[in-house]
Amino acid sequence: MVRAHNFNAGPSALPLDVLKKAQEELIDFKGTGMSVMELSHRSKEFEDVLADAKDRLKKLMEIPDTHEILFLQGGASLQFSMLPMNFLQEGKVGAYVVTGSWSKKALKEAKNFGETVVVASTEDDSFTHIPEVTVNTLPENTGYLHITTNNTIYGTQWQDFPDFGDVPVFADMSSDILSKKVDVSKFAVIYGGAQKNLGPSGVTIVILRKDLLNQQNSGLPTMLDYTTHIKANSLFNTPPTFGIYMLSLVLEWVEQNGGVEGIQKRNEEKAALLYDLMDEFPEFYTPHAQKDSRSLMNVTFTMPNEELTKDFLQKAKAEGFIGLNGHRSIGGCRASIYNAVPIETCQALAEFMKAYREAHLQ
Ligand code: PLP
Repeated sequence: MVRAHNFNAGPSALPLDVLKKAQEELIDFKGTGMSVMELSHRSKEFEDVLADAKDRLKKLMEIPDTHEILFLQGGASLQFSMLPMNFLQEGKVGAYVVTGSWSKKALKEAKNFGETVVVASTEDDSFTHIPEVTVNTLPENTGYLHITTNNTIYGTQWQDFPDFGDVPVFADMSSDILSKKVDVSKFAVIYGGAQKNLGPSGVTIVILRKDLLNQQNSGLPTMLDYTTHIKANSLFNTPPTFGIYMLSLVLEWVEQNGGVEGIQKRNEEKAALLYDLMDEFPEFYTPHAQKDSRSLMNVTFTMPNEELTKDFLQKAKAEGFIGLNGHRSIGGCRASIYNAVPIETCQALAEFMKAYREAHLQ
């Protein structure tokens, strides 16, 4: 069996051990005589799977009892609408930090539900860095602040989070959730699709501070009302059962690999392999992100010209390095090195890049 060196931006690599365990259990899940996919979502067996996933995520991220964990559908994209629909109130503004395409999309949706303000944007700098934002930057009537903690397309990431006082902070963590230690209590809502660090696509994780529900808008469609899902423990309707099962396996794998701390250390080592190389040869592999904003998850860079970029991507693909092309909106190259990407894969890429440069010095 040959596994590809998978640098896809999402859905992306899953740990091999997780895939093997899922394969082992695929036809007969724990003696039930059926696959997890075939279990009733109301069965004791599936309730255990759900409880297990919730429990593991709570422990790994140290989620306090003030917050509820939900497994929903619709991707992070639906959260762009659901958050303002539920929590953007009249007389208040939704404050947005615009650090890339995904924050712009979140902002666009919020505009459908009330007043918004852009409190900082790095668009004029081609989204090469994370701007400075403090609680003093925010208007007095800020209802909530929305940030995107990792900008998948541009390869920038918030390195730490300022204290925003009483302002509820909503964070799209789609592409860096569980990649490093984060103080969950600083956030009113953390959300993200599972398909990067947590499992297959189809499950959306929402971690929501319960007291937000005291200031929720009324008259919402049942499925788009967080209260519905909290009351039903994410079982209001049929949930993505197989995805939740896979999520629990991925979380178990994280536990077996040193928990979040172990994963963070590995992620830092992996990213350093590529950034160090780019710092050594910045005229050949030019990083897109400024040094103080570099992402541990998506390493973005450009090459001297289009022709060389095309050739590099073609040769890389022929060697089994998949998914290295940059997002269609910015071009260039991007290595997405989420939690499940092994360090050996990053080593192999660094070696390939070094050799490619030597062979193509102009
Ligand atoms: N937010 C970020 C930061 C993303 O990277 C993505 C997808 O890549 C999304 C939101 C959209 O997620 P979904 O496809 O789950 O709606």
